[in-house]
Amino acid sequence: MGTVSRTENGDSDVCRRCSLQGPTCCRIAAGQEEFCFPVSPAEKERIQELVPYTGGFVLSPNSKAFIGHVGRLFPGEEAFVRELFPEGKEHFRLAVDSMGACRFLGPLGCEIPREVRPYYCRLFPFWVVGGDVTFFDSPTCLARREGRTLIRILDSLGTGRASVRDLYGRLRLVWGLPPRKGAGRVKKSF
Ligand code: SF4
Ligand code: SF4
Repeated sequence: MGTVSRTENGDSDVCRRCSLQGPTCCRIAAGQEEFCFPVSPAEKERIQELVPYTGGFVLSPNSKAFIGHVGRLFPGEEAFVRELFPEGKEHFRLAVDSMGACRFLGPLGCEIPREVRPYYCRLFPFWVVGGDVTFFDSPTCLARREGRTLIRILDSLGTGRASVRDLYGRLRLVWGLPPRKGAGRVKKSF
């Protein structure tokens, strides 16, 4: 893992430069709110203890499109995802303003200490599929655009495969998924 310079809030330099150029991963396009990742009660409570901020989260319906979107994150585990997010019920997600910016996004970046942010935020742009670390082909991510290969993107964000796997495992636990694909049943979390 390479050593990267970090901003005051712990973000990599590439993320600081990304925020000067474009929307970053902390903003979504209008109308895309349905596809925001869910925030589990455990993550929400942990954030609210440190950053008591009213309006940071909103309830969002478990729509067909949302369930399908989350299901694609966990290939082969779509049935678990449907159990976690029954259609007609709701889940919490991060609230965004009228410009699509996360409510926790301040002038100097995320206002939540890095180690307390939702696991999905801490993982992005990385993910794990079939035990392999991979990355989302996000056109807005400067680390992805500059790095192009997994190893270089990991390096520019100052992380490595082991850290990504660890965060991904933690995300699965707080979201209520079995620790590994095929291991046991879901624990109701949302
Ligand atoms: S919680 Fe922080 S890192 Fe996550 S989307 Fe909001 S501002 Fe970005
Ligand atoms: S993770 Fe990617 S999209 Fe998010 S701020 Fe860093 S460079 Fe930008």
